[in-house]
Amino acid sequence: MSRFWSPLVHDLKPYVAGEQPVMADIVKLNTNESPYGPSPRALDAIQAAAGDALRLYPEPTSLKLRETIAKREGVKAEQVFVGNSSDEVLALVFQALLKHEKPLAFPDVTYSFYPVWSQFFGVKTKIVPLDAQMRIDVSDYGPDCGAIIFANPNAPTGMALSRAEIETLLQAHPDIPVVIDEAYVDFGAESAIPLIARHPNLLVTHTLSKSRALAGLRVGLAIGSRELIDALERVKDSFNSYPLDRLAQAGAIAAYEDEDWFRQSCAKVIASRERLTAELQALGFDVLPSKANFVFAGHPAHKAADIFKALRERAIIVRWFDKPRISERLRISIGTDAECDRLVAALKEILRWNERGYHV
Ligand SMILES: *Cc1c(COP(=O)(O)O)cnc(C)c1O
Repeated sequence: MSRFWSPLVHDLKPYVAGEQPVMADIVKLNTNESPYGPSPRALDAIQAAAGDALRLYPEPTSLKLRETIAKREGVKAEQVFVGNSSDEVLALVFQALLKHEKPLAFPDVTYSFYPVWSQFFGVKTKIVPLDAQMRIDVSDYGPDCGAIIFANPNAPTGMALSRAEIETLLQAHPDIPVVIDEAYVDFGAESAIPLIARHPNLLVTHTLSKSRALAGLRVGLAIGSRELIDALERVKDSFNSYPLDRLAQAGAIAAYEDEDWFRQSCAKVIASRERLTAELQALGFDVLPSKANFVFAGHPAHKAADIFKALRERAIIVRWFDKPRISERLRISIGTDAECDRLVAALKEILRWNERGYHV
């Protein structure tokens, strides 16, 4: 607290990002980064952009990048909005589209940044519990909401709704904005983007941080009807005219152009996820069926917090949320097969020790 702060700052409860620890020989499975590097073509493009032209401001609308994304997703460039990370795009979405008389509805268990932005921008909220299987039930989103947002696949559960279920939700709510955060969609879920043509109230957000392995470049995007994108552009141009720098624009374009690399690395992550899921189940873990680049697993006989600590002592970092309904599970990002093997070997040791009654 300081007398120099604006009053708003006193009451903020900021989002807590997963740690980026510096440890020797670490297995980092806590922030859903890709275990594989970005496309080599993206790295070449970034290097080529690091020249004298950096004295000049970048192109403010990232037109070439939006055209590249539009071509791949089957929409028009004017339906694509890009920003410095999908977190920034989502923050603009909260201001531009989600603040209404009626509350913004989202699940009790979902991306934990949504309540933070709601508080920051003064958006009223309606929290809708997941069902007993930790699934989003679209029929739970009644008439009394001014907008809806959730992640699909959801985080940190990893569970996905089908495109048909998203369409059912859209049919029930034609007159309010519906935002689907598809940060993890490339790991096996169905995208809602084909529904945009029929549903002008649907906005879909993506990020290059997960499936395109560019968390360090900070590029995210939203796709929707011109009506929705127009609102985002108005807010962006009242906030930061140049959200994407020259390196980010060049790297993101090249990443989208390297479809082969993208497909191969997603396929590797999916195969490792299925293998890790089976191995965790063999150790007695309950693992939710994931369509993301992480699994959400808990053990009936061992406290998640104890396992988290014991893994950390072995330089294996996973994510544990000390929150209602999910504190008995760990969110584990999918690493390389070698990293998953180290995790499983450590878990075998930890579970055995814990069963013998040693303190872990
Ligand atoms: C990682 C993540 C984001 C943020 O992605 P950035 O583009 O890196 O900011 C947004 N939504 C969800 C659900 C995520 O998991």
